Amino acid sequence: MEKLLEALQQRILIMDGAMGTMIQRYKLDEAGYRGSQFRNHPRDLKGANDLLSLTQPQIIEEIHRAYLDAGADIIETNTFNAQAISMADYGLEPHVYDINHASAQIARKVVDTYSSDRPRFVAGSIGPTNRTASLSPDVNNPAFRGVTFDQLVDAYYEQVRGLVDGGVDILLPETTFDTLNLKAALFAIQKFCADRDVRLPVMASITITDASGRTLSGQTVEASWNSISHAPLLTVGINCALGAREMRPHIEELARIAPIYIHCYPNAGLPNALGEYDETPQSMSALLRDFAENNWLNIVGGCCGTTPDHIRAIAAAVRDLPPRQPAKVDRFLRLSGLESLTVRPDSIGSNFVVVGERTNITGSPKFAQCIKSGDLDGALAIARK
Ligand SMILES: [Zn+2]
Repeated sequence: MEKLLEALQQRILIMDGAMGTMIQRYKLDEAGYRGSQFRNHPRDLKGANDLLSLTQPQIIEEIHRAYLDAGADIIETNTFNAQAISMADYGLEPHVYDINHASAQIARKVVDTYSSDRPRFVAGSIGPTNRTASLSPDVNNPAFRGVTFDQLVDAYYEQVRGLVDGGVDILLPETTFDTLNLKAALFAIQKFCADRDVRLPVMASITITDASGRTLSGQTVEASWNSISHAPLLTVGINCALGAREMRPHIEELARIAPIYIHCYPNAGLPNALGEYDETPQSMSALLRDFAENNWLNIVGGCCGTTPDHIRAIAAAVRDLPPRQPAKVDRFLRLSGLESLTVRPDSIGSNFVVVGERTNITGSPKFAQCIKSGDLDGALAIARK
C-alpha cells in the first residue's frame, strides 16, 4: 500500500489493456476452454474466459507478461465475470473461489518476477455481473428485479475472498453500469476487510454508456460519485463503453469534483459496424496525452479493443507528464438521485430545500410493522393514501 501511494505521488501509473481481446487471438475451441479438468462438464464452456485461469493458465500468464513488457504498472486479474451470478450461465458457480484464487496467483507470480526495477501491482478485476439491481428487465413490471442487493453482496464477497487469498494488491470493481451493483461490491469489500481485519486499496470504476453522460441506470457522473463517495476509495474513474474522445468531458468533470486519485481506461474507440475497435495506438495515446496535459490523470490504460501496442504507446505518451493532484473540494451536503444535489450554506435563507416525507417508521406503528415484516406492498399502500 505504501509503495502504491508513493508511486502515485511520483508519476502517472499505467494500467494494462484488454484481456478478452488478447484471449481471442488464441482462437480456442470448446476443448481448449475445457482443458482436461472440465472435459466432462455438462454445459458449453467456450467463452468462459475466466475459466482459462484454471484450464489454460499459461495463456493468461503470457497475456500478463505482454502487458508488463509494454510498460504496465498495474495488471488486472482474469476475473471480470468470476462471481456466482455470471458464472451461473456456464454452471460454474461452485468454482468461483478457485477461479479467483488461481487468477490472482497467476498475476501475482508474474508481477513478482518484474518488480525489481520498479513496483508493479495486481488489481483484482470485479465486473458488474450480468444483472442490474436498480432496473427492471421486465417492461410489464417495473418493480421486478433480476437480482437483489444481498445476492450481489454474497456473490461479490466470495469473489473478493478468492482474490485476496490469491494475493491481489488492489480491488477493482469496474465497468459499473448500475451504481447499486457497485455499492453492493463496495459493501462486500468493506465487510470482507472488517471480517479479516485487512485493508486493501479500492479503485471504483463506472462506465458511461451514452453521449448524454449518464450511466445505464440513469445517473450523471456527479450523482454517481456522490453515491459512492462515502466509501474509502483510492481512485474513482471511468472505463469501457466509450472511447477516449467521447469520455473526455466526463473525465474532466470527475477530475474537478473528486478529492481522490482519478483513473481512466477507455475502449479503443467506439466499436464499428463489425464490432471492431478502430482507435490505433497512436490516435488513442494522443487523446490520453491531452488528458494528462490537463492534469486529469493518475492512472491510465485501456479497456476493450486495446492491446500491448496501445499500452506501450500510452505509457510513452504520458511518461514526461506529472500526475494530477486530487481536487480540493468544500465539504457540503452532497446527495444524489439520478442528478446530484449540493446543499450549500447560501441555499438556506435564499432557497428552500424541499425534502418530501410521506411515511416514517417512527411516526406510524402500522407502517413500521410493514417494513419490519418485509411487506413492501403494504407499506406502499400506506404511502399512496
Ligand atoms: Zn471495456
